[in-house]
Amino acid sequence: MRKLLTFKLSLISFLMISFSTAADDNLPDIGSSASQVFSLAEEQAVGDSYMRQLRAFAPLMNDAEVNDYIQHLGFRLVENNPAASDRQFSFFVVEQNSLNAFALPGGYIGLHTGLISRTDTESELASVLGHEIAHVTQRHLARRIELQNQLSLPSLAAFAAAILIATQSRSSDAGMATLTGAQGLTQQAIINHTRSNESEADRIGINTMYRAGFDPGAVVTFFEKMQQNSRYRNNSFEFLQTHPLSRNRITDARLRAAELPRRPVIEKPTYQLIKQKIKALTTKITPVVLDAARQQYENNEFKTDELLYGYALLLLKGKKFERSERILLDLTKKHPGQTSYAIALAELDIESENAKRSLPIMQNMLDKIPGNLALVEMNAKLLLANNSPAEARELLLENVHMTIFAPHLLKLLSRAQEEAGFLSEVYETEGNYLLSVGDLSGARNQYYQALNAHTEDPYARERINAQLRRIKEYLYERSLRR
Ligand SMILES: [Zn+2]
Repeated sequence: MRKLLTFKLSLISFLMISFSTAADDNLPDIGSSASQVFSLAEEQAVGDSYMRQLRAFAPLMNDAEVNDYIQHLGFRLVENNPAASDRQFSFFVVEQNSLNAFALPGGYIGLHTGLISRTDTESELASVLGHEIAHVTQRHLARRIELQNQLSLPSLAAFAAAILIATQSRSSDAGMATLTGAQGLTQQAIINHTRSNESEADRIGINTMYRAGFDPGAVVTFFEKMQQNSRYRNNSFEFLQTHPLSRNRITDARLRAAELPRRPVIEKPTYQLIKQKIKALTTKITPVVLDAARQQYENNEFKTDELLYGYALLLLKGKKFERSERILLDLTKKHPGQTSYAIALAELDIESENAKRSLPIMQNMLDKIPGNLALVEMNAKLLLANNSPAEARELLLENVHMTIFAPHLLKLLSRAQEEAGFLSEVYETEGNYLLSVGDLSGARNQYYQALNAHTEDPYARERINAQLRRIKEYLYERSLRR
């Protein structure tokens, strides 16, 4: 299953094309006119639809700190790409140990955890994001969708069918085999088309990251790393399949980086902290893993506070609360303003039923940084652990706009609403959650129940009816393609 999923994600650029005119679980509209220009609004609709499916089947990382970080880094680059100002963007992380990054229509940009872990500097990570943002602004995706419309019907049909099989039966190898066959038919056309786009995305990406204050030389070091690794590990380098790396690309990048004036690059500790967090979140905790880490700790191999933080997170995940607490207390004392350390300690306090200790510290931090997703989430969790669901509900409702990027907050909200006795609200929140993960019929059922519960409140009824109309529109569009 894992293998199939990896393979599917590696094919996202192909999937994206096959869903070019389709929404949700449908076959694409193969017969449409090839000359039709794909508008920005259409591209956005395709991207939204694709993202809903991705949320339903792909292992997206729900960690608020990781998501917050990647959004901030992404938008720092977007602000430095002049062509990006009229486009929407959203950045997310896929929990997958392969080296891959991809852009979907509508400005959705995904990074695999394996890629983030294999970067050595924030500039290397920024180089990948700058490149993907350029694919979006140059409308490479839309152009490829148009190209795909010109491909022969059988290959597209086979390909789309394969995706349906793969999406619906994750545990079966049948989808895998069909997918491989269909891939062979379409891959050549797509990759040929991609090469010219790659050099354009490289050129724009390197300027973007330079303007954002990163080291343009990181493009070269990251390319070299990919090239070296791909010699040993062919299968795990999907990034190279969707973004082919030629000798010219590396040479071009080296020349461009050399043209840009050198200047000192200041990298904040957050990047290293996020890498440590991803490592802890994706490591399977076993006694062997914990023993090895303890050995490193005793040999003083964790020389930076970021590495010590990573060790404390492993201990926390392994439920070694006392040892984790000792390190985290030291770190929070040494860096009282660093949210990552305080959030880890708060997590530990919830796990060890001591939520009272972290509550005032987290509330204070949130007062200082009100828009921080991770602080909102942790405060809500602490309030719930501290038997204050009404306050958790209020906090989450105040920040409900964040759920667009972090649908899992809706699960926290529905729990808070239920525990605080706002039962009529729970259906609507559950409906919003299911809608965001692409379960249209599940969402519709929840909204009907919500309408039954909200007999008095005209505003709530209007809101829910608007959502039901949206679902009706999606279903109508879908039926047109049948
Ligand atoms: Zn590319």
